[in-house]
Amino acid sequence: MDALPQSTTYAVVGAGIHGLSTAWHLAMELQRTGKGSGADVVVLDKEGVGAGASGIACGCVRNLYMTEPLHAILRHSVDVWMYDPVGFGFQQVGYVSAGEANQIDDYQRMHKSQNAVGYHSDLYEGQQARDFVKSIWPDFKADGIDVVLHEKVSGYAGTMQACHGLAQKCLDHGVRLYTGVEVLGYDVTGGQVEALITNRGRIQADVVVLCLGAWIAKHWEMLGRDASISCGYADGNRVDKDMWTFWRLKEGEVYVHQPYRDARDLDPPVLHVELMNTPVVDPDTGKELADHTYVYWKNGAERMDRPGVQGGTLPAQIGPKATLDPYGHFNDEYQAEAWFADYFCAALGQLMGRFEGCRGDFRERRNGGIGAFTPDNVPIFDWIMPNVWMNADSNHGFKMTGVGKLVASSLAGGAKASELEPFAIKRFADGWTYGASNSHSPWV
Ligand SMILES: Cc1cc2nc3c(=O)[nH]c(=O)nc-3n(C[C@H](O)[C@H](O)[C@H](O)COP(=O)(O)OP(=O)(O)OC[C@H]3O[C@@H](n4cnc5c(N)ncnc54)[C@H](O)[C@@H]3O)c2cc1C
Repeated sequence: MDALPQSTTYAVVGAGIHGLSTAWHLAMELQRTGKGSGADVVVLDKEGVGAGASGIACGCVRNLYMTEPLHAILRHSVDVWMYDPVGFGFQQVGYVSAGEANQIDDYQRMHKSQNAVGYHSDLYEGQQARDFVKSIWPDFKADGIDVVLHEKVSGYAGTMQACHGLAQKCLDHGVRLYTGVEVLGYDVTGGQVEALITNRGRIQADVVVLCLGAWIAKHWEMLGRDASISCGYADGNRVDKDMWTFWRLKEGEVYVHQPYRDARDLDPPVLHVELMNTPVVDPDTGKELADHTYVYWKNGAERMDRPGVQGGTLPAQIGPKATLDPYGHFNDEYQAEAWFADYFCAALGQLMGRFEGCRGDFRERRNGGIGAFTPDNVPIFDWIMPNVWMNADSNHGFKMTGVGKLVASSLAGGAKASELEPFAIKRFADGWTYGASNSHSPWV
């Protein structure tokens, strides 16, 4: 490995989706504006490319968010995915989400907002919704479905393939990428970060970009920031909240005996079903496993050693503190419990004939991971100190390759992209903290 530089214009900390996409786009932006090049950017990661959530994410690329400003971010993200779909392992199979009547208004709003920003989706209600899902999956047990949104440009990507594809783009543009370099602290002088203290020496940096996934809470503390924040709401209310809350994801895989295909014999769209009034019942014992249904799944593709599907359900809240290392599949504390396998398989069987009795096909292996969520579960993409930018995606973001594209202009000294304004950290102080949504999911 090359010796670490003693100084750099830009130090990006974290080589996940956000760090890599930001470094690549920043290199292009510096070159485009004549302000520099990729040689001005270094990326540091304590482990390696994709060592955090980005390397183990389910890989779903979708735009099903009730927080409308996210729709524009996702439109840019799909542009990035489609810039080199082979290099990033992106499969543009579409995304279908299905709900009950209580979510029709939300779906109508999302559909309108998505299309307004050029993210094409179709909305189906009532019998049309049921007919639509059956036209794709003929064995879909669609009786409880009242509304369906079909995002045509969404899909899924291979997680490690995407990370390595982005890393290659960085290298192609002259960015220097150092793995095995852990940032242990920050030398803060006059309210600015002067240098990063790493396990391999000190690096003076003009601008620091934090893309730390679940580790952001630790670095927030290292920078001397408070563990709680006062959140103001539009109705005038003010509530003190934990700055970061960890959630544990529950995901897994199920083998299939026939290739997982749709009625057209194509790779099916990613599927998301939230039925807030439909319990999931264990088909063997008759026991209710949950009083509502929330599952998503997609072709297991490169993640699996033989045909199968990969998906998950709602994450579980851990709280403001969590053991971060070892991360993900390596951490005993955060593996999906047996309940998850029972629930996931039962829900799949309730929704499609092909999955009835699939519990024996659940792939028993280590899975899961954790993420750090913001006080309102909506990302923060903003300057948090005069020379420190933070990409904290609130665990929304394997799909959000477009954030790096939008952020590049701000980092290179240009104007802040208007799409990023809704993700400013001042929302908590200024009284426009995002509120609750009509879903059991924290991915709002
Ligand atoms: C199990 C799971 C499934 C998910 N599924 C999806 C999905 O289907 N779709 C989706 O859009 N999102 C999904 N997410 C969320 C998504 O993966 C994350 O939001 C996103 O990957 C975060 O990217 P990041 O670049 O911010 O962080 P990370 O990918 O976590 O990268 C942070 C990097 O920082 C490095 N690092 C940490 N500390 C230091 C240090 N001190 N010095 C140097 N480097 C350091 C780490 O090694 C790591 O590589 C999922 C998350 C999990 C956990």
